[in-house]
Amino acid sequence: MAKMGRELSAKGIDVINLSFGEPDFFTPNNVKEAAKKAIDDNYSYYTPVSGYPELRKAIAEKLLRENGLSYNFDQIVVSTGAKQSLATVVMCLVDPGDEVIVPTPYWVSYSEMIKLAEGETVFIDATVENNFKITAEQLEKAITPKTKLFMFSSPCNPTGSVYSHDELAALAAVFEKHPNIYILSDEIYEHISFVGKHASIASFDSIKDRVVVINGFSKSYAMTGWRIGYLAANKEIANACDKMQGQITSGTCSITQRAALEAYEGGLESVHQMREEFKKRRDLVYSLLQEIPGVNVNLPDGAFYFFPEVKSFFGKSVDGQTINNAEDLSLYLLNEAHVSTVTGEAFGNENCIRISYAAAEDKLKLAMKQIKDALAKLA
Ligand code: PLP
Repeated sequence: MAKMGRELSAKGIDVINLSFGEPDFFTPNNVKEAAKKAIDDNYSYYTPVSGYPELRKAIAEKLLRENGLSYNFDQIVVSTGAKQSLATVVMCLVDPGDEVIVPTPYWVSYSEMIKLAEGETVFIDATVENNFKITAEQLEKAITPKTKLFMFSSPCNPTGSVYSHDELAALAAVFEKHPNIYILSDEIYEHISFVGKHASIASFDSIKDRVVVINGFSKSYAMTGWRIGYLAANKEIANACDKMQGQITSGTCSITQRAALEAYEGGLESVHQMREEFKKRRDLVYSLLQEIPGVNVNLPDGAFYFFPEVKSFFGKSVDGQTINNAEDLSLYLLNEAHVSTVTGEAFGNENCIRISYAAAEDKLKLAMKQIKDALAKLA
């Protein structure tokens, strides 16, 4: 979709890109300054595989301060992005034939990582009616003697759903009964939540030792290109991930690590400013999407995505072109409305499309108008 969008742009057509998975803001100034200083201070040598100790300590302090989670710095492994941490954990924990439970919709790379580890993905379907969240009953049903891992994100990409403390408690109660299952909790959108304090499944002491928390700087600090993330886990898993990472990428960029240290030591002001801006956009796009007949949309509590159900358009046509599925619709919106979105199939749900609102308000308004007009032509 991105490639086709670029082709249209090259023809002089103004394409509004709502397919992006990254904030449109700049990295906060204090973080950029710290990076410049790191260059001048000659932070130019190989770094420890798991990251500079001072950064790992700052991460452990952050997890305690903001999340009430207690970790020693040697339980933290800094990586080249949350994506690398997720992949490393999957490679360390999943053996061929192991089952990994993943609620759908899920972030695209989860199922591919499981495939690379030769595991079997067991999907649990969450629907728009349940705000795209699974229940404890669904989880219980999906567990088999082969289940090794449960993998999810909250706030979620692509749905923006956020599990509350009580909802996580219900899932944790199921895991309590199954002591051989690990939980991979992707909390990269932690700070882009509009429902108050972030809840982590690692806060339940009875299962904490089996939870691996994934987080990073890409989304909260608008640092997608800097490539830095981390995991927090029990010592055994952290050690295994350090070994794995040591043979693949080594420690991540020295300059980025110094910048990340400033991000965690420099306060949350810019993070909260971005969150407020995202909330305004979320409210705007929600009201505009609700005005489009045939689009079934819920109000997401976090991240910066909508995941509307669009199946009412399947089977409809215009000028001899029929929309058979979400991919057709996404293509149609690109060609007709000049708005790029992502088909839900990429996230394990073929009835939806993902719309990112990491774009300026005037662009969002125009995009929603163009989508509405294009959809109105389908009959
Ligand atoms: N996890 C989720 C749910 C994401 O949406 C993304 C990026 O889109 C990542 C992880 C990867 O983050 P990073 O840039 O830190 O690798």
